Amino acid sequence: MPCCGVLCQYETNKLVRIQSVRLGSLKWSMNAIILLFICMMLLWNRKYQEFDLVVSSVTTKVKGVVRTQLPGVGDVVWDVVDYSGPSQEKNSFFVVTNVIVTKNQKQGKCPEVSRKDRLCRSDKDCEEGGWDQQSHGIKTGSCLKSNVLSKTCEVSAWCPIESRTNPPRPALLAAAENFTVLIKNNIRFPAFNFIRRNILPEMNEGYLRSCQRNGDALCPIFRLGDIVREAGEKFSEMAVEGGVIGILIKWDCNLDRLTRRCLPRYSFRRLDEKESNRTLYPGLNFRFAKYNMVNGVEERTLYKAFGIRFDVMVFGQAGKFSFIQLIIYIGSTLSYYALTTVMIDWLIGTSCYSAEDGQIYSEKKVESVVDKQKCVLCVSYVDERHIRLVKRSQKKSLQHVKPTSVRPYKEDGGHLRAVVCLLQPGIVVDPDAPDRNRSPELRLRPPAWCKCGRCAASSLPQEELCCRRGDGSCVASSPLFEQLVLRRPLLEAVLLYRDPLSSLPAGQGQTAALRHCAYGQYVSWRFGVPPDDAQPAIPSCCVWRVREEYPSPDGQYSGFRPARMASMQACANGEL
Ligand code: ZN
Ligand code: ZN
Repeated sequence: MPCCGVLCQYETNKLVRIQSVRLGSLKWSMNAIILLFICMMLLWNRKYQEFDLVVSSVTTKVKGVVRTQLPGVGDVVWDVVDYSGPSQEKNSFFVVTNVIVTKNQKQGKCPEVSRKDRLCRSDKDCEEGGWDQQSHGIKTGSCLKSNVLSKTCEVSAWCPIESRTNPPRPALLAAAENFTVLIKNNIRFPAFNFIRRNILPEMNEGYLRSCQRNGDALCPIFRLGDIVREAGEKFSEMAVEGGVIGILIKWDCNLDRLTRRCLPRYSFRRLDEKESNRTLYPGLNFRFAKYNMVNGVEERTLYKAFGIRFDVMVFGQAGKFSFIQLIIYIGSTLSYYALTTVMIDWLIGTSCYSAEDGQIYSEKKVESVVDKQKCVLCVSYVDERHIRLVKRSQKKSLQHVKPTSVRPYKEDGGHLRAVVCLLQPGIVVDPDAPDRNRSPELRLRPPAWCKCGRCAASSLPQEELCCRRGDGSCVASSPLFEQLVLRRPLLEAVLLYRDPLSSLPAGQGQTAALRHCAYGQYVSWRFGVPPDDAQPAIPSCCVWRVREEYPSPDGQYSGFRPARMASMQACANGEL
């Protein structure tokens, strides 16, 4: 095939199919749950629609009359002009609920209100022309008696000065809770060119005159007491110092032809926090005055008005079917199905499944490639059934490195056959084989990390490995070691088995080939099939035992090299 690079290639993922009723039914039931969830979200949140936000305008009309007894004024009837305050704000209305009246104020000079921090002893305490944030006028420079007990500075101001600071309790206009308000709300969704009003087309004048919030959630006329009660407050308490109440109108419109629905929903909430109101500057108040001329002199009546401001807030959106939105939603949900894979893979990996099956699945699924720089070694101790995986360390001796994971021992079928051959009649496993304690000079002082007493000291930490974890006899001293690893006829047969027509090189080359083949035999015996992602490490005692049997004439050995010792080719070529 002509080479045309990446353009002529297509890569696709390789899949592993596990034949299992349990996993199959788990997969399909999880997929069904996900599909159900997706459909519910689609219908519940109307994900198939495109949405537009509301644009709105609000007007209000408050109605009601109250008769009250104002101190110093007498019986007064308040109507909408009096209690709505002087100005109408956008999207909100104000109702006066309490008031402090100071009558017949004239421009003149009078003593300041007597308060602890305003008292004076002589004229020296009152600087002429001075004023501060709390004063009601400009100081004239004299200190006057303001009442029987105390003296305060005289000021030029509207006299007499308003003296009361605390609002009357109960509130003078508490009966305002029976006032009603008509809220008119026009909305528009520009994207769909849709217009609507909260006074619905089917509402006629008779309906509006009689409807009540309690029985009809759509009635656009509200009693102020009901509004405050639904906001979780008590009108009579709130009326004393005033506050702010939010009237929330929510439009959630579905403009699809079959399921068309577009109605307002009203809810109420206190906006100024009640708790913080208890401390400083509580409630809501402002002052206004009414002016008149008496005998050619201008006089005014000052009102400090406390009241409740009602802010109308409109939220909302309208949705209409959009094919593009539907496609986008379906596309965005496809990734949810990956949850099934993640979940089942996790289940296989955990103890919910048998460790053996999990190991087989993950080996089929994952192919490991080892980075040569970060070599992982596998270690087999004669007094442990499992194989340990350890990271190669430049400082710590291999015997003491902590394992990163533990793998089960996996039998090498080929090697088992060799063992069966070994047990054929004629070959005797002699427990009292000779040479067991050869080269006593090596065993004189075993290093500290050695547990079998037959290892040799090394300058390389990765060569510092014993055949066992705990104290005991050495694997190299076992009769099977002689038979499986060291026996010359077996090693020659293995070399010939791999390459039947080769002639073994004579002399030095032959010894090296046999030595490396003996290493390979040891690995097959002790590790079975070594893990793919790790290099088997041979204990020092075994390495030296093999080297004694098949020595290098110049005494030079290549030492430990991380490459696959089990590799037939490497063994035959004597690379190691
Ligand atoms: Zn040892
Ligand atoms: Zn040993």
